[in-house]
Amino acid sequence: MTRKTFAGPEQPLMEDLIRCVHCGLCLNYCPTYRVTRLEPESPRGRIYLARAVAEGRLELNDDVIEHWDYCLACRTCEAVCPSGVPYGRIIERVRVQVMRHHPGPVRKRLFYWLAFKQLFPDPGRLRFLARLLRLYQRSGLARLVERLLPGGLREVHSLMPTLPDRFFDPPEVVPARGGRRFRVGLL
Ligand code: SF4
Ligand code: SF4
Repeated sequence: MTRKTFAGPEQPLMEDLIRCVHCGLCLNYCPTYRVTRLEPESPRGRIYLARAVAEGRLELNDDVIEHWDYCLACRTCEAVCPSGVPYGRIIERVRVQVMRHHPGPVRKRLFYWLAFKQLFPDPGRLRFLARLLRLYQRSGLARLVERLLPGGLREVHSLMPTLPDRFFDPPEVVPARGGRRFRVGLL
C-alpha cells in the first residue's frame, strides 16, 4: 500500500520548510501552543510535521492533519521568526494538500461545500443568513436557547457576536463632487 503523502502541484516547498532552525522563539507567540503547551500545536511542531511528511518519514494521516487543523493561520509566528520562515505560505500549501488528498469524512466535506462553495461566495445568501440570525438574537430566542444548552455548548453559543443592523449590505455609494476620476472603496 502506498503511503499518503504530499503530491501534485502546490506542495509545501522544501526551501521554506528547512528555514526553520527550531529555535523556539515563536512558541510563546502562538495562541494554540500557549493554550495546550504541546509541541505539535506550535509553529515549530507543525513545520516539523510538514517536513516529515514531505520527506516521506511520516504518513499524511488524521493525527497529523488534526495538528494543522488547529492552527488559526494568524501568522503571528511568521512575524516574530528570526529565520524568516514563511509560515503563511507553508500552511496554505499544507491545507491545499490536505483538501486534495485527504478530504476527510462526508460531514466535513459537506460542511466545507456548504460554507465555501454555497455561502461565502454569495452575498445574497450571507445577507439572508444574517437576517435570520439577527431575528434569532433580537427575538429573545437566543437567550432562551442559551439557558437550555449544556455547559460546553452554552459557552460556544455565547461566542456568537451580536449582528449589527447592516451586515453584507450593498455598500453606500457617495457620488463624486465634479467629474468622476476614480472609484474608491473604503472598508
Ligand atoms: S519557525 Fe522560526 S521562530 Fe519558530 S522555531 Fe522555526 S526558526 Fe524558530
Ligand atoms: S499561524 Fe498562529 S496559530 Fe498557527 S502556528 Fe502560527 S502563531 Fe500558531
